[in-house]
Amino acid sequence: MKEKFCLNKNALLFIAFYFFPFFVLAILGVFLISELKVYLKEIVQFGFFTTILFCISQLTNNIKIKTFFYRFSFVLLSFLVFIKLAFYYNFDAQLSASAFYLLFETNTNESSEFLNFYINTPLLILFLILSFAAILFVLNAKIKFLKYHSVAKRFAFFVFAILLSSLIYWKLSNENVLFKTVASYNEYITFKELFKNDLAQERSKFMGDAISSKIEQTYVVIIGESTSKTHMQIYGYARNTTPKLSKIKDSLLVFTDVITPHTHTITALDKILTLKDLKNPDKKDNTSLVQLANQAGFYTYWISNQRPVGMYESIPSLIGKAAQNTIFTNSKDYTNYVYDAKILPELEKALSSLHKKKIIFIHLMGTHSGYKKRYPKEFNVFTDSKNIKTTNNSSVAISRINQYDNANLYNDYIVSEIIKRVKNKNTNSYVLYFSDHGDEVYDTLDFCGHNEWRGTKSMHEVPFILWLSEKYKRENPNVKNWKNYTNRSYLLDDFAHSFAELSAIKFSELDTVKSIFNTNFKPKKRILANGKNYDEKKK
Ligand SMILES: [Zn+2]
Repeated sequence: MKEKFCLNKNALLFIAFYFFPFFVLAILGVFLISELKVYLKEIVQFGFFTTILFCISQLTNNIKIKTFFYRFSFVLLSFLVFIKLAFYYNFDAQLSASAFYLLFETNTNESSEFLNFYINTPLLILFLILSFAAILFVLNAKIKFLKYHSVAKRFAFFVFAILLSSLIYWKLSNENVLFKTVASYNEYITFKELFKNDLAQERSKFMGDAISSKIEQTYVVIIGESTSKTHMQIYGYARNTTPKLSKIKDSLLVFTDVITPHTHTITALDKILTLKDLKNPDKKDNTSLVQLANQAGFYTYWISNQRPVGMYESIPSLIGKAAQNTIFTNSKDYTNYVYDAKILPELEKALSSLHKKKIIFIHLMGTHSGYKKRYPKEFNVFTDSKNIKTTNNSSVAISRINQYDNANLYNDYIVSEIIKRVKNKNTNSYVLYFSDHGDEVYDTLDFCGHNEWRGTKSMHEVPFILWLSEKYKRENPNVKNWKNYTNRSYLLDDFAHSFAELSAIKFSELDTVKSIFNTNFKPKKRILANGKNYDEKKK
């Protein structure tokens, strides 16, 4: 028997077929991957990956194993190409750790909405093509013609070894979907553990006591949900979506240039409600605002109208667990009709409690999608296309915009109701309202929802509104200047410092330069997670 590497016409055809997913990536990638460098990297690395799988299959002459391996690897490669292209198509971005992050996170409904939203006709066609090829391959992968003798085997092994080492050398991790999935999942789990052991505890082990004044204080921080300032009348929106807040506008400080670091709840609140910021996204010795308040001697409440647990506990609720009194008013997820008025009786109780110093955090359901499930029918006010400026005039889009505006109208009622109730207590207090991020509702893109990759103005620009009681103003004479600060450009990843100043808390890591309320404040370059300067993009 001659020992030689036999490669006939059939074998070549077979190999070409085996590389079909690779060709799909190479061809469609030209249209979907905007950066040439990224495109080339993807192609090279996916080519490597396909070759390696092919080489592995050459290590055996057992037809059964070989055939199985061919079939399995072909289906895997097709699947990976689909995932990659789907991400480029929808987000114009590589599959990333934060994407996994979102898919892994608790609110399974958010993920399913996420999927519903982004599976569309072109992707379905792609899916069908790849599935068809996979079926064809599986049925025809009878690999009789590729029988290699020992030289070939050794050759294959040699190629495999070379490729594998170059693969590691190249640090494929970024483009290799398999590797990335495992790595980010592990990262996510470690991160979750960290949260449970540290941030969910009443006190932070990374910080000593914080100092605060001994006088009576009742402070309220309202964390909104998916509410963009671009749909709020008080910020210049053409529709009357904030009649109640607009009415008391003179008694509010309405900050006009505040943006969120991320456009998803979890990633945004992870930085807004802790000492972590965009510069130190992996900060391990982290402390949350709830812990800071605890350590400064406040009695803390966390009243949330967002569902506390799912498959995993969600990050905001873990932060909330550090409060001395954690109340979840809602056990349903986003698919259900959930109205924020449910938190009002709990707020009343907290306000009436005898604790002399308290900070009440309120986490709203706000204007989260599906918008029509956020408000009772009395708030179904916007029903036509009047005063709508949109990229999409379809009836579906108009109806979504109307629902979003109605949800905003209800949110206006909730926020002003909270202010009213705190005001009635006539004590030393503030109420601060901001949103975790906003939603794009066909404002500048033909798109509805939020995702980091598209990161529009409507997703990043959030309301930031402060109400102060008369007693608070007397206690803190420097607030006189704050009306001059309302147009300061601010990135909410520094919020901890503003929160501390507002609550008259001093702690070791406090940096007054990062407090929007401080005379020392210096606006910083607002560099987002993608490395881009937000303010340059705006121009
Ligand atoms: Zn959110």
